[in-house]
Amino acid sequence: MIVREPARCADINSLWEPFRHKVERLLDRMTERGFDPVIFEAARSRERQEWLYGYGRTHHKNRKPVTWTMHSRHLSGKAVDIVSKSKMWNWPEFYAALKAEAVRLGLATIPQEGCHVQWR
Ligand SMILES: [Zn+2]
Repeated sequence: MIVREPARCADINSLWEPFRHKVERLLDRMTERGFDPVIFEAARSRERQEWLYGYGRTHHKNRKPVTWTMHSRHLSGKAVDIVSKSKMWNWPEFYAALKAEAVRLGLATIPQEGCHVQWR
């Protein structure tokens, strides 16, 4: 059964406020370095997390899974996915800079997903 994909939220205001302030600074720093960051996904509903978790597992079974957990920090607004507006995921230098700037702000990144930044 193919379940319809619940909407993705890219609104910075959906993030937990202390994290949102850091993300605003992260976006500014990336822009100052000549990149074109844009939020791809911010807070996530449980319904959407369940859909994503099921992707490649209980639906779209021929596809590669897109998440490995039901305990994502996106659920509490403490994680964000940031991509390049012009090149989306296809810019290695962008993701190297994103990780460096995130760490500089005291935020955490994960090896599985270059676009993902979360509260420590
Ligand atoms: Zn993420």
